[in-house]
Amino acid sequence: MPDELEALVKELGEPKFRAKQIFSWLQNGVSSFDEMTNVSVALRQKLNEIGYIANAEVEAKFESKLDETVKFLFRMNDGLYVESVLMKYKHGYSICISTQVGCRMGCTFCASTVNGLDRSLTASEMLAQIMSAQRSCSVKISNIVLMGMGEPFDNYDNVLRFLQLVSHSDGMNIGMRHISLSTCGRVDGIEKLMKEKLQLTLSVSLHAPNDQIRSKTMPINKRWGVDELLSACRKYIDATGRRISFEYAMIKDVNDSDECAFELAEKLKGMICHVNLIPANEIRENDYVRSDMSRLNRFKALLESKGINTTIRRTLGADISASCGQLRQTYKK
Ligand code: SAH
Repeated sequence: MPDELEALVKELGEPKFRAKQIFSWLQNGVSSFDEMTNVSVALRQKLNEIGYIANAEVEAKFESKLDETVKFLFRMNDGLYVESVLMKYKHGYSICISTQVGCRMGCTFCASTVNGLDRSLTASEMLAQIMSAQRSCSVKISNIVLMGMGEPFDNYDNVLRFLQLVSHSDGMNIGMRHISLSTCGRVDGIEKLMKEKLQLTLSVSLHAPNDQIRSKTMPINKRWGVDELLSACRKYIDATGRRISFEYAMIKDVNDSDECAFELAEKLKGMICHVNLIPANEIRENDYVRSDMSRLNRFKALLESKGINTTIRRTLGADISASCGQLRQTYKK
């Protein structure tokens, strides 16, 4: 943050305005202190001695032929890989970034969690994914989703710091209303975040209407069940005035029955929310099969008949395994 940089340059015996210069270079995505040409050589040298700039180097880049989606495999300073996806929408460019290398939440349908967690990413490494994608494609990104690899609430402090940095008026200045954060349902994180009263969009990966199904696919449900999760969501909506978006990946014969739709509608009744139905991505690590489009349409119609706002998510980048976690696994092999 600018105030922390001010304290640092002061400590190095430099005038305060250097902090603003350095912050602005960092926000412009330079990959080394030496690129900071209006900063004195002596100071650049000192900076090189005490620190480094987090980089997300483009290791591989896949461009979809179906739409303009670009999938990145980034190499971090320590050699680990993370994935990000750049998507083009009518209103501009949106990026889906990772918050951790791997994940330890263990959802059975998800490719990111297959080998567990390597480590959490720092706030700068989250920023670096955005800057690197911008530079690589010569675009300006206006929307961010924290829906890549990792569980944001398993890395709460770094994620919050990232949100503060990316929305800073001297920095990338991306407003909270242009940011979405997705959680597998860590109630501790939801309760913590609601106190911040941020105007971002909270997405909750629900994927099942009851504990019986949800505990089978999402281990986190054994810690916080569906009712406890939904009650935290209601509190979140009250505290922030923002509606919640529920993600629901449709898996054939697992969570896609008419009964599931009715049960879900009953549980969400009266809540200011939105359900996003997603055809589950089939991954090689499990045998799940995605529900077909007619099932998705029927499920949507049933929810809507009960007054629940529902959309079916458009699939982008289907030809480049754009869904997170898939690419890194392929690459490791
Ligand atoms: N850990 C966070 C964010 C990362 S996952 C979370 O769980 O929300 C991003 C989204 O992709 C989540 O909704 C997750 O449940 C979903 N997802 C993971 N694997 C999937 C698959 N094979 N098909 C469809 N959606 C999947």
